Amino acid sequence: MADRIASVFVSHGAPTIALGESPARAFLAGLSTELGRPRAILCVSAHWETDAPMTCAAAAPETIHDFYGFPEALYELRYPAPGAPDLAERAASLLTDAGLSCRSTDDWGLDHGAWSPLMLMYPDADVPVVQLSIQHALGTAHHLAVGRALVPLRSEGVLVLGSGGAVHNLRYFRPDGVDVPEWANRFDDWLVAAVEDGRVDDIVDYRERSADGAMAHPRDEHFLPLLVAMGAGGPDGLGRVLHRGFMDGALSMAAYAFD
Ligand code: ZN
Repeated sequence: MADRIASVFVSHGAPTIALGESPARAFLAGLSTELGRPRAILCVSAHWETDAPMTCAAAAPETIHDFYGFPEALYELRYPAPGAPDLAERAASLLTDAGLSCRSTDDWGLDHGAWSPLMLMYPDADVPVVQLSIQHALGTAHHLAVGRALVPLRSEGVLVLGSGGAVHNLRYFRPDGVDVPEWANRFDDWLVAAVEDGRVDDIVDYRERSADGAMAHPRDEHFLPLLVAMGAGGPDGLGRVLHRGFMDGALSMAAYAFD
């Protein structure tokens, strides 16, 4: 294992990624080969929103099926990874030291933003997982600051994993759709270039600085985990593409690493 584990952003797509073969599923299933086996994972999911940062300190986090109208088989899936109360406390204290108030709670578990990719990445569920919430009202710059406060974890054997969507507009969700809208492709391309050039300010201001940001993200919540992963990366903000592709019409499955 490297001295510092890269922080990573993955797009989790729809819960149905668990049920059928796809390039994104194959990518996630192979990702641990590149990343190795961390001591623990701090997962920032788009699906846990709180007013101020919170970590889940549950010793045995429950699998939360936080979606509706999907095939019954998805509601039977469980991801029984242990929690890591010590990591929940450590992350909360790093954030508090950085002036970002953070508390731990037992009152969460693993939502599908966390377990859906992790079930593919670490199918044995033997790496402890702690979730960290997002704060929709506080915007992109706040989440960049959250990521920056978490940099020390990367030297402590912890994988900082953001799980959201690089393009996420559910009005254009088409199960099994193959036609990717032009604006979705354009934003995906714009984001790849911005990440590879380390244009952190452009990404923080993506709604103003990209032509299609507001279409790609009618609401920010699936974009914010990317800001945390980027903030937890190197000081130059440079990232690299791990995977690209679309599923279900306009859901980008892009993934990035920040070394
Ligand atoms: Zn989602």
